[in-house]
Amino acid sequence: MDIDDTGINEAATRLLGLEGVSVIKVKDDGSGGSAVYVVTAEDSARACPSCGVFATRLKDYRTTRPRHLPCGGRPVSIQWRKARWHCTEPACGRGSFTEAIRAVPAGMRTTAALRQAAGAAVCDGSRTVVQAGRDLHLSWPIVQRCFEDHAAKVLPETPPATSAIGIDETRRGKPVWKQNPDTEKWELVADAWHIGFVDAIGGRGLFGQVEGRNSASVADWLSAQPAAWREQVRHVAIDLCSTFRAAVHRALPHAAVVVDCFHIVQLAQRHLADLRRRLTWKQHGRRARKGDGIYTVRKLLRRNKENPTEEQLSLLKAELEYMGTYGRQIYAAWQAKELLRGLLHLAVSRTHVTPDRSAISAARHRFLAHVADHAHLPEIVTLAETVEQWWDGIETYLVTGITNAASEGNNRLIKLEARNAFGFRNRENQRLRSRCATTRRSRREAHPH
Ligand SMILES: [Zn+2]
Repeated sequence: MDIDDTGINEAATRLLGLEGVSVIKVKDDGSGGSAVYVVTAEDSARACPSCGVFATRLKDYRTTRPRHLPCGGRPVSIQWRKARWHCTEPACGRGSFTEAIRAVPAGMRTTAALRQAAGAAVCDGSRTVVQAGRDLHLSWPIVQRCFEDHAAKVLPETPPATSAIGIDETRRGKPVWKQNPDTEKWELVADAWHIGFVDAIGGRGLFGQVEGRNSASVADWLSAQPAAWREQVRHVAIDLCSTFRAAVHRALPHAAVVVDCFHIVQLAQRHLADLRRRLTWKQHGRRARKGDGIYTVRKLLRRNKENPTEEQLSLLKAELEYMGTYGRQIYAAWQAKELLRGLLHLAVSRTHVTPDRSAISAARHRFLAHVADHAHLPEIVTLAETVEQWWDGIETYLVTGITNAASEGNNRLIKLEARNAFGFRNRENQRLRSRCATTRRSRREAHPH
């Protein structure tokens, strides 16, 4: 029933799914796979590639074996009997040509479907090049080429429109240290960084990455984007990094810098820890150890206000009180941190959509007045100075609620991708793979299969 009078097996042809050829027969190849014999089924294959005229004079046949996807879990070896034709057009200089179809372009030894599958496995399916090569019985360079072709097709050439972007840096691989034989000092010989540009609010992953850590590389990437895209960026989320701030002011003068709130809290924690260590040394002449009051409260100091229970809070207070002057100083620094956290808490969010400017202003002054009362503690004075230097960016965070969390999330994906690939030797390739990894989810949502 399946085999019509021309010898073509319709069912097997549909099953193979290779457009432009018809299956004549399928045999066991003796090693767990199928040998599939096909003939050309696309009329246009007869068109001369030089002049486009359909040829009528057959020259001879030859068999090629383009590599294709496995079928039903079994490897498939295709034996394609192709015609060679004479081009008889007087004005055409070609002489003869071999049939070619879209699914197997001329000169290709793999089918387009196989190349597409290999490219998609790496770009969209998070397989490594090595894994995809093993699955599809292709070599590393071929899978890499397929991946690059696929990525060029699916990644947007210019970044999608977004009113807020985030900038952040990630280390590219591990830093390499070497001991200088002359000075016997350890020196950093390789420490490459990538600066990433992400969609801060739309979740569309990385727009691009550049090498280096300086202001010029950031400004250059931003300036290289289309003017229309640059104009619609209103906010740029960054860490407390003046290099990035300078670059944003230069390349996107109309956009406002947003300081990532997470990094301000982290900075306050760090200053509090510095102060605690300094006073411990002053009091004991050594690091804190079990039995010291400061040791008991160390963990509590690191915690944020809402988290410790009333009981823990009174323990903290009692222990610090018991320590005397140093304890009171630590308590003052802890209060400064909490006042700052309270201020950051006023930021707009999903549940709290209108900024309360008078509350923000009052909280800022409470924090600064507290620091002024304890101006003999250099750690919290430095903290307050940093907050004032970055006030514009902090205030923009408070009234917009924009953070750089998207960068942090992407950095995790980038590191995971590098770990799976056992590191990247080629930086351009690493950037391309990182872009694919971070845009995977949003691309899937935009084009669900
Ligand atoms: Zn021709």
